[in-house]
Amino acid sequence: MKVKTRFSPSPTGYLHIGGARTALYSWLFAQKYNGSFVLRFEDTDIKRVRKNYVQDILYGLSYLGLHWNEGPFYQSNRLQIYKDIILSMLKTDIAYKCYCSQERLDQLRKNQILKKQKPRYDRRCRNHCFFLKKSNIPFVVRFKNPLTGIVKFTDMIRGPIYVSNNELDDLIIQRSNGMPTYNFCVVIDDWKMNITHIIRGEDHINNTPRQINLLHALNAPIPNYSHVSMILDNSGIKLSKRNQSRSITSYINEGFLPEAILNYILRLGWSYKDQEIFSVDEMKNLFNICNVSKSSSKVNDKKLLWLNHYYLNNLPIKRVHSYFSIYCKNKKIFLDKNIDVQGLLKEFLHHHNTIQEFVYSYLYLYKDINLSKIDNIKIYCSIMNIKILKFLYKNFFSLTCWHKSDILYLLKKSTKKFNLCFKDIATLVRIGITGKKETPNISSIIFYIGKNQFLLRIYNLLRYIQIHTYI
Ligand code: GLU
Repeated sequence: MKVKTRFSPSPTGYLHIGGARTALYSWLFAQKYNGSFVLRFEDTDIKRVRKNYVQDILYGLSYLGLHWNEGPFYQSNRLQIYKDIILSMLKTDIAYKCYCSQERLDQLRKNQILKKQKPRYDRRCRNHCFFLKKSNIPFVVRFKNPLTGIVKFTDMIRGPIYVSNNELDDLIIQRSNGMPTYNFCVVIDDWKMNITHIIRGEDHINNTPRQINLLHALNAPIPNYSHVSMILDNSGIKLSKRNQSRSITSYINEGFLPEAILNYILRLGWSYKDQEIFSVDEMKNLFNICNVSKSSSKVNDKKLLWLNHYYLNNLPIKRVHSYFSIYCKNKKIFLDKNIDVQGLLKEFLHHHNTIQEFVYSYLYLYKDINLSKIDNIKIYCSIMNIKILKFLYKNFFSLTCWHKSDILYLLKKSTKKFNLCFKDIATLVRIGITGKKETPNISSIIFYIGKNQFLLRIYNLLRYIQIHTYI
């Protein structure tokens, strides 16, 4: 049988690390067995579903390269399928209409709690509601859960799990407004979409026996289940859409690479010997759902930074350049076409952990410098500096080749001419062309800025100093 997994988020929040990890594990499982990976949005909770969450999830999965083979399906487009099945379940008597009012259910619950019993529906309508059948009293539809026996399934991560049927309620499968419920739609979709392996968060483990009973009643095959443990944030709170956990998009916006994010989430709850770095091919070969940890894992931002630094410096430069361009496009940073970005990346990436850090460290390459905003700029206003800048302008203007070695040669020549040390000249040039007191290697920075920009900035500094020296 062809392996088929699915990722079925409810678009009621952004895609966070935990959701992305579930998607990655499901995707890897399908990839490993040449199977198919389905994307399905469980969007029947109309009050909490938002279109921008759907967009965010689609964007996050695509950025990470977790491409789906089927879908995206939307449960909201499949309501008729669910309604038809509910109708046939009522006809075959495996489901029933429950007319109990909310007040009655609340009272029942209260009494059960008082008697220290587990609160549950007392199945009053299961056999005794025929007299109400034709009335227009609102009703929900409940599934006739088996009254005896046990449900057994073998979780691929946790091993065998047994739940007694007398622990389980008669599940509501259709609300009084006619909408089918989560537990019902999931079962129908997993069945109709031929899902063979369900990998999802451990928060769904209690739903599994109920869903298995429904599948049995519908004569549908039972898929394999794996429930992945939760991820805790720095303060030990479970990551979830409800508590506004950090989204994958926020990591993308900070310049984290897909390779680093994937590698990071892979390792949150799974390991292979003491290996830290996994290419996607290695992930496909080595990942085994049965080895996923039963205990919860904790986010570790330092580790993510470390991985991002690793990938920034080890991926082919062309790939890093393309991520750099995506980042700049998203942030509306427009690059001067004359800047040799690949050269810049090659030379300076090892200083940085993220694309964002990199882009902001060299922002002066793409943005004009406002000299009047530089702290203590006035200390550079001197007749000597005017002479130096004139000399530099003249010599760099006549330079025919724009090579780092020629640039360095001219800087050194000016130090000799004015009997200064290299640092003095470098500081003056640095302030004029970058607005900063510290930058990496100044001859490289001059090189990347390019001849025209360099001359323009030296000229601007010269003008500024001339004006402010003589007033
Ligand atoms: N829609 C559920 C969620 O977002 C997942 C359901 C499932 O995987 O069965 O948590």
